[in-house]
Amino acid sequence: MTTRRNAIGMGLGSALAATLVGKHTARAATPAPETALIVSTWDFGAAANAAAYARFAAGGSLLDAVEAGAQVPEADASNRSVGLGGNPDRDGHVTLDAIIMDGKGNCGAVAALENYVHAISVARRVMEKTPHTFLVGDGANQFAREQGFDATNLLTPESEKAWKEWLKTAQYKPVANIENRRGGALDHDTIGILACSPDGELAGACTTSGMAYKLHGRVGDSPQAGCGLFVEGGVGAAAATGVGEEVTRIAGSARVVANLRAGLSPEAACREAVEHIVRLRGSAVSGAQVGFVAIDTAGQVGAYALMPGFTLAITDRTGHTRVLPSKSLAGPEKG
Ligand code: ASP
Repeated sequence: MTTRRNAIGMGLGSALAATLVGKHTARAATPAPETALIVSTWDFGAAANAAAYARFAAGGSLLDAVEAGAQVPEADASNRSVGLGGNPDRDGHVTLDAIIMDGKGNCGAVAALENYVHAISVARRVMEKTPHTFLVGDGANQFAREQGFDATNLLTPESEKAWKEWLKTAQYKPVANIENRRGGALDHDTIGILACSPDGELAGACTTSGMAYKLHGRVGDSPQAGCGLFVEGGVGAAAATGVGEEVTRIAGSARVVANLRAGLSPEAACREAVEHIVRLRGSAVSGAQVGFVAIDTAGQVGAYALMPGFTLAITDRTGHTRVLPSKSLAGPEKG
């Protein structure tokens, strides 16, 4: 009998031929999609994937795995776009948005949560302890307190200093791919993490402090089911990052999963959603970044972005992790 533990350790063989444009991978004669146990957004996804993999390998559920993964950047004060040390809104409040979901329609989310590091865990409690799917603002804070989460000041001296510097000009111009320039004026970027078990079960999580210096009360795509994250059992899962308003306008992650349902590969499914944003918005999205990652029930992975610079972290069933650049509509990784 195949146990889950030895199923995780199965080799991938030729299935690792790349369709993603990867500096670390060679293009095979007949490219097959990448496969994964866990996939997440951006370079910082690699550390999240490692925690998720370890949790699953230790006997945790897929939800345990994606929650553990999302907690890594949430607790990392040097990451200025998620959790502790996240950039505040323009009034100086660090407000967190998060969602967790599985393939059976179980879903919990919080938005505008203040003073609690692990927004993803509060979101999971919403899913498991309430009849609701989404709590926001004061209600989310009250719920976190009642659930026994420890309150913490999320505004670190570094993020406060950068905010005060920003206040001198108070210009609001999000910069694409700012994660590569930590401490830059307008850091953003979200972790979306998706997992597919060896038997095709799916789960996902998404957590962020949202756009730096946003209006107080602004909620982006990330905690909205179908926008920042969507998971559908028997089909696939998708997550988004970048300018949340553009993702929300097209219900981006739900669109990617609908594309999977229609038979597109994960990469083609993500690309179609990116192209739709451009069709709809034209020059209004010039210079903006939006990136999608997707996984299907076979563990096949794909990604696509508006602009070059988006990366994804892929962890295969042996626990091996690589960070790859995504293809994009514009620039050298165009495909
Ligand atoms: N999508 C996030 C938001 O709009 C930010 C990001 O991923 O860069 O809040």
